[in-house]
Amino acid sequence: MAIESGHPTQQPCVHCGECVRVCPDALNPETLFFALVRDDFASARDGRLDACSECHRCVEVCPSHIPLLDWLRWGKSEQAARARAEAARERYLARDARLVRERAERAAARREVRPTVAAALPAQTISHAEVLAAIARGKARRRGKHP
Ligand code: SF4
Ligand code: SF4
Repeated sequence: MAIESGHPTQQPCVHCGECVRVCPDALNPETLFFALVRDDFASARDGRLDACSECHRCVEVCPSHIPLLDWLRWGKSEQAARARAEAARERYLARDARLVRERAERAAARREVRPTVAAALPAQTISHAEVLAAIARGKARRRGKHP
């Protein structure tokens, strides 16, 4: 993530708990920050990332000048983007499953119709003599004669 902030040089978190103390939404900006650094969106969601009202207080008190709010904003937008992508994927899979099901239903319907049509057709039989006569007629035609 590219962080742009006007903070002085960022230092490692000293776990002072100041950001937690000032948060009006009862969040733990420190743990949210570390969850987002680890790309751990499940923990960020459990930590109620969405509830951040972006008041900026945690940034103001952080002695390590960590751009907490930049991280939290990025985390919220990334979380929303991932949720949209997941919803789109689920829609795609549902559509795929529906098409497969409909194809199978059409094939099953065709299998049911086919014997009925075959049964409705008259039984066609041809005798050995008729086969020989047809062959003879074909040969005669090829020789330019007619039987
Ligand atoms: S910016 Fe968000 S996390 Fe930080 S103090 Fe305000 S509400 Fe809490
Ligand atoms: S205020 Fe800054 S240094 Fe202190 S716990 Fe929060 S993130 Fe860490």
